[in-house]
Amino acid sequence: MRLVFLGAPGAGKGTQAKVYSKNRGVPHISTGDIFRNTIQHGGEKAEELKFYMDAGKLVPNSIVLEMVAVRLSKEDCQKGFVLDGFPRNVDQAAALDRLLEGREIPLDGVVFLDIPQDLLVDRLTSRRVCSNKECQTPYNLKFKAPAKEGLCDLCGHELLHRKDDHPEVILQRFEEYTKQTEPLVAYYQQKGLLFKIEARGTIDSVYKTMEIALAELGV
Ligand code: AMP
Repeated sequence: MRLVFLGAPGAGKGTQAKVYSKNRGVPHISTGDIFRNTIQHGGEKAEELKFYMDAGKLVPNSIVLEMVAVRLSKEDCQKGFVLDGFPRNVDQAAALDRLLEGREIPLDGVVFLDIPQDLLVDRLTSRRVCSNKECQTPYNLKFKAPAKEGLCDLCGHELLHRKDDHPEVILQRFEEYTKQTEPLVAYYQQKGLLFKIEARGTIDSVYKTMEIALAELGV
């Protein structure tokens, strides 16, 4: 099973993709997580990544594509994968097509989590994420608060408020989404790969809707 999760910032891509990949036993590949890990460990491109991410802008394709190609060539991707936050523009999507065609492993589907943007600012400002690199469980102070304030239920590490989840950066991220990422809805629709999921409900209800839709793919 090779899937892409698509949606505006805060639509729930990360949350749904994480649960789905765990249930299906395939790797969850989030470009945002890869970049945050690189920054945390002061990797080669850390400074450059931080510059773009803190400003709510997309990281240049040259950096993104190289990192994704390396990740997708790892052994664990042979049984499938869930891509979260990639591709984010049409050039990245075309590059992904070429990469997968070359390996004769085309995408099976694209899950588009559809939700009006005006509902998302609130979701993003109350979002928190576990600081433990191995865990990174997402929380939301309004919809999915941790049992102990500021600490992850699963591993006890401190929860972080991402720098790019602050209001001024959120607006920039929406602008990037509208200009660069939203055109991918039409791109994948034309290819007959798009599964549009109404993403306004609870985490569980959206997950169930998605599972029913994906059952069409026979999984
Ligand atoms: P995310 O965790 O998916 O919300 O991504 C956080 C930030 O990482 C984005 O606002 C971008 O700055 C950067 N980023 C993540 N994925 C990509 C991508 N595929 N292309 C360009 N920038 C990305």
